[in-house]
Amino acid sequence: MKLYVDQDLCIACGACISLCPEVYDWNDDGKATVIVDDVPSDAEESAKDAMDSCPTEAIKEK
Ligand code: SF4
Repeated sequence: MKLYVDQDLCIACGACISLCPEVYDWNDDGKATVIVDDVPSDAEESAKDAMDSCPTEAIKEK
């Protein structure tokens, strides 16, 4: 699974980073970004939880 954060939609709430720090982290613009090319299988569930929890649906599948 490959994911990205739409930078125009992210409101920097931090939910995704709290739920799945293996996959999401802050970038230099103070918004969330995906830090892995491919989501490891053991992080897929929490990465999807983060997608579902994003208030602006900014996390999308490539
Ligand atoms: S949950 Fe969504 S809005 Fe919040 S930091 Fe992550 S990508 Fe941005």
